Amino acid sequence: MSSISPANASAEETIYTCSFEPPHRLKLESKTLTPRGTVLRLSDADHPEIPPRHVFVTGAELKMGYENVYKACFLCVDRGRKEKAFAVPKSDLE
Ligand SMILES: [Zn+2]
Repeated sequence: MSSISPANASAEETIYTCSFEPPHRLKLESKTLTPRGTVLRLSDADHPEIPPRHVFVTGAELKMGYENVYKACFLCVDRGRKEKAFAVPKSDLE
């Protein structure tokens, strides 16, 4: 765990959007740091009844020199659209 904002920690939601139109909205429920990478627990912000999924970001992905890590949107994959992705800022993965 890095920084915890002091006052006004009014749980601002972290939402990632994929490149589909209209974009899917993936809500970050939690993250778990492991020796091999970071596990993100993501739910569908527009359909909270759908069980959250786990998306694994490997240490190798974190080491690549980009600002964001791109992961396939599982809501798109469910619909057979594998090419759509959402960006996760690396600052969210530390
Ligand atoms: Zn999507």
